[in-house]
Amino acid sequence: MALPSQANYVIIGAGIHGLSSAYHLALELKQHGRGGGEDILVIDKTSIGAGASGIACGVVRNNYFQPAMRELMAQCVDVWESDPQAYSYHPVGYMQISPESMRANIASIAEQQEQIGYESVFIEGEKQSADYMKTIFHDWQAQGITSVLHEKRGGYANNLKSLYGLASKAEAQGVRILTGITVTGFKMANGATAVTAVETDRGRIECEYIVVAAGPWVKSIWDMLELPKAIDVKGNDGTIHRDVPMWVFWSLQEGTLGIDPTLQKTNDGEFPPVVHVDSDVPLYSDVDGSLITDQMWGIYYKPDFNFGGIQGGAAPFKVETNPDDVAVDPYGPASPDFVVGDDFAHMWCSALAHCQKRFQGQIPKYKNEPSGGIGAFTPDSFPVFDVFRENCYMIADSNHGYKMIGVGQLVASEICGARSTLLQPFRFSRYAEGKLHPVSNSPFPWS
Ligand SMILES: Cc1cc2nc3c(=O)[nH]c(=O)nc-3n(C[C@H](O)[C@H](O)[C@H](O)COP(=O)(O)OP(=O)(O)OC[C@H]3O[C@@H](n4cnc5c(N)ncnc54)[C@H](O)[C@@H]3O)c2cc1C
Repeated sequence: MALPSQANYVIIGAGIHGLSSAYHLALELKQHGRGGGEDILVIDKTSIGAGASGIACGVVRNNYFQPAMRELMAQCVDVWESDPQAYSYHPVGYMQISPESMRANIASIAEQQEQIGYESVFIEGEKQSADYMKTIFHDWQAQGITSVLHEKRGGYANNLKSLYGLASKAEAQGVRILTGITVTGFKMANGATAVTAVETDRGRIECEYIVVAAGPWVKSIWDMLELPKAIDVKGNDGTIHRDVPMWVFWSLQEGTLGIDPTLQKTNDGEFPPVVHVDSDVPLYSDVDGSLITDQMWGIYYKPDFNFGGIQGGAAPFKVETNPDDVAVDPYGPASPDFVVGDDFAHMWCSALAHCQKRFQGQIPKYKNEPSGGIGAFTPDSFPVFDVFRENCYMIADSNHGYKMIGVGQLVASEICGARSTLLQPFRFSRYAEGKLHPVSNSPFPWS
């Protein structure tokens, strides 16, 4: 298809946010009698799912310490549940299994889930937690666990399949999706801040409105829009932190143990909830018994036919390179810099064995293929959903976001004039105003 020279709405990025925004915007425009999918053009420099959404583990959960994140996730789970088949969604539930140092945080999550009507079970106490886990997995053996939050909703979805499902829905509404087109800049009218055209390597597209959903590439688009590279952030205690880089990168650590996924069925023969364990007991090698860490550690895992085994990950690490010098491309498993190594496999498989006896001695079956990828994080590691330059809606999820399929729906209604209370806590102005989200004591930057 030739590159159109004009489109009312240009959406940059064919990942979860770009495609969800496209589909929902098409519906909103139609509903308001303001056009429809034929007014929307999605462009991607590579292909559908070429970014983080295409390699995401796919976990969908509500478990967040921040009330605003929880409320938003409940809306997102509603969207996943609205069409499980098209979104390749597996509603198996999710478990947050934690040590004493996290119990109070998790108790408040459970309490607030009850308040918002998000079904979950909360177990407290070491014996009670172990007993509960053994009703699901007879071989459960993790030590030092004093609480279990079992979310009955959520689960996981198959990354690429869900994107193709969204793309089909968008295309059925008349949305055009063009791949192999790279945005290289923006055109602003003389003296005006609003963008009037998107410049690409294949030509210029005049437009009225832009949605930026560029995932780990958000920094490059942010720079093209001439937005600030560093900002002042007012902490919750009123202290001003000057010149904080707007974007930093973290490297996500994920992999697959190549065993039959059915080996992880529950005692009842069902597919289990996604399991997330944080622990502060020392973690020892399942290979030679040596100490791997005596610091807080965490893992998550699920049986997954799509990945061909038990798939999951561990806490990410911050990329210390100057953000301007981080090579986002080639991305994901193709990156020479940001794929997981032997240390991850050793730690993660040992942690699996620490939790469940069935994983002991299985490390030789770890799939030794490149996996993992980087994500772009904001100053407080929470999303920024906001309009810049009057007509550029930026969906920058700070790597929380495959699960956030509902954000595109909310963004679409904001574009059509509504104000979303769910998106309000994620405005850029919170950094200047000191309205930051509370921080949990989980070892993960996004909990
Ligand atoms: C290894 C890994 C595992 C993860 N697991 C989970 C999980 O289990 N659950 C969860 O909720 N989240 C998870 N995440 C986070 C989640 O994947 C991301 O937050 C989310 O997918 C971002 O979606 P997006 O649509 O913003 O960006 P992406 O999916 O990255 O899509 C951005 C698209 O923009 C295109 N693009 C970029 N620059 C340009 C340009 N200049 N011109 C044209 N196109 C451009 C890219 O080609 C890309 O296709 C994980 C992330 C990683 C890396």
